[in-house]
Amino acid sequence: MRYAPAPPAEPTGPPEAPEVCPICRGAGWLTKAVPYGDSDFGKLFACRCTQAAQAQKHAERLSQASSLAAFRDKTFAGFVRTVSGVQQAYQRAQAYARQPIGWLGLFGPYGCGKTHLAAAIANELLAHQIPVQFVVVPDLLDHLRGAFAPDSTVSYDQRFDAVKQAPFLVLDDLGTESGTPWAKEKLYQLVNHRYNAQLPTVFTSNTRVEQLDPRIASRMHDPGIQAVIVTIQAADYRRRRAEPAA
Ligand SMILES: [Zn+2]
Repeated sequence: MRYAPAPPAEPTGPPEAPEVCPICRGAGWLTKAVPYGDSDFGKLFACRCTQAAQAQKHAERLSQASSLAAFRDKTFAGFVRTVSGVQQAYQRAQAYARQPIGWLGLFGPYGCGKTHLAAAIANELLAHQIPVQFVVVPDLLDHLRGAFAPDSTVSYDQRFDAVKQAPFLVLDDLGTESGTPWAKEKLYQLVNHRYNAQLPTVFTSNTRVEQLDPRIASRMHDPGIQAVIVTIQAADYRRRRAEPAA
């Protein structure tokens, strides 16, 4: 199919384009060289240069929506694997990033690398244009509680729905949130929705599965969703050394 540059009066290409595109001569859009009567006659098609700019903008929008900004440097390449006990978690996380189906739970105390691995998965998926939400659970609940206030200007439902329905979600630091019935209920609604819709979700927690809300724990153990639970053992080793009596 031959294309001709669109008439100059039509929408122009991206203003930030440093060089004039040789295909559309900067118009950004093309018409197909088809005879009058053809269904494509007079229609505008985005030039390759416009498509690239749109893809870039799309990627930026996804990145902004993800709340991953603070974790953009947490990648698989930057993960230190030499610490004993983290290799299994690293391998599981990488496998999950390649095929994000079901749930992945990364359990272990602070500083064992579980948030790094969860962020590495999210960054990997984001690089493949998969919309990602990275949520620190106590922060989300604080936000929702604030948005729920009568004088709130932020839309409560919008944020909650975005997180609930995200094609991929990280729930970081599960289990440290305040245990008010309201917070528990919101979190359960969120997890239950992810369970019913079979949506890929990564959890990190410094507690044990059994210490979570029993309704959430039972979802994690439910064969209805493929959930892989990884407990990082290095941390247990450290704890044993710190508490020789145990
Ligand atoms: Zn062009």
